[in-house]
Amino acid sequence: MTDYQTMENQASMGILPKRDVVIVRGSGARLWDSTGKEYIDCIGGIGTANVGHCHPTVTEAVARQAERLVICPDTFYNDLRAELGTALTRVAPEGLDRLFLCNSGTEAVEAAFKFARVATGRTGIIAAQRGFHGRTFGALSATWNPKYRAPFEPLVPGFTHVKYNDVSAMEESIDDETAGVILEVVQGEGGVRIGDGAYLNRVEALCRERGALFIVDEVQTGFGRTGALFACEHHGLQPDMLCLAKAMAGGLPVGATLCAETVRGVPAMSHGNTFGGGPVICAAGLATLRVLEEEGLVENARKNGAYFRDALAALDAPFVREIRGMGLIIGVEMKGRVTPILRGLMERGVMALPAGNTVLRFLPPLSISREEIDQVVETVDAVLGSLEA
Ligand SMILES: *Cc1c(COP(=O)(O)O)cnc(C)c1O
Repeated sequence: MTDYQTMENQASMGILPKRDVVIVRGSGARLWDSTGKEYIDCIGGIGTANVGHCHPTVTEAVARQAERLVICPDTFYNDLRAELGTALTRVAPEGLDRLFLCNSGTEAVEAAFKFARVATGRTGIIAAQRGFHGRTFGALSATWNPKYRAPFEPLVPGFTHVKYNDVSAMEESIDDETAGVILEVVQGEGGVRIGDGAYLNRVEALCRERGALFIVDEVQTGFGRTGALFACEHHGLQPDMLCLAKAMAGGLPVGATLCAETVRGVPAMSHGNTFGGGPVICAAGLATLRVLEEEGLVENARKNGAYFRDALAALDAPFVREIRGMGLIIGVEMKGRVTPILRGLMERGVMALPAGNTVLRFLPPLSISREEIDQVVETVDAVLGSLEA
């Protein structure tokens, strides 16, 4: 145990289990620990480092803005916030022409629920089984996993969960009390489960017919992860609200709720926050959008994601039950627990993360190269081989 591990253990609440390693540096799809050991990073800051760790364009934009102005409350106009809002609403799915800025995914979801109640005058929110939307009380009420919910009940009233990818379950649930329906296009934390395009379009249409708002949570799938800038594009979805966060600002904390014209009339002063839309974060967000475009990272996610999945599928691995994915969000469902696999990968220089107990999840920077993917797949092969032996 290093000094840093002892220090953290003594000062931390210890809510999250920790890996036995001190990470001190990152670049692109690589990480280094305090002993100098190098890793290929398929965690990517839990899907935040889409442009790679410490991308020089983002780093420079942050450094430059940190010398000019760090904080500017939302009650003032600001040059960077104006530019980010313009840039983001221009690339967003059609109709999402206004945005609310905050600091995390859970806050982007909270805002969506508050706005949905105000815009519809209704209170109900429908979410999906296995869905994940964050851990503050409102977002947690939409999150499905009992492990996250149970210790903190009672949660917010008015939330229900229905089976994902099941049209009739949704048809039976949306009624004239429903303010909004929230869904992920790919359920990330829930095990990398791919939403069916016809299902998602049908839910959108049902919401329109019955006066509920269609809220899409792209906190994990946004900014190129699935091989489109937003996963909504794969299916032509036009949500009333789109929740964004993780990869939006090169790994810095940020969140945004994009709104269509169906979402208006939120009373003055009724919602807000201190840090949201700060100039440094906005500079990072603008730089991130520029890098995604200039380096063709969305295309890279699409092509290299397919390459990655094909390579995994070609392994002779009886322990693998199923491989799911879209672009560079990839889940490998195992026939048993994934913890020993994660440990084996880390020992051999590859970082990956779980999605539940049995799914091995990869969320690498979208700039990951084919050579790096080859190395990851070879390592997965070696680890699975050593477990089966
Ligand atoms: C991570 C995540 C959230 C919560 O984001 P935080 O920034 O951790 O609050 C919400 N929705 C989805 C789909 C996520 O993946």
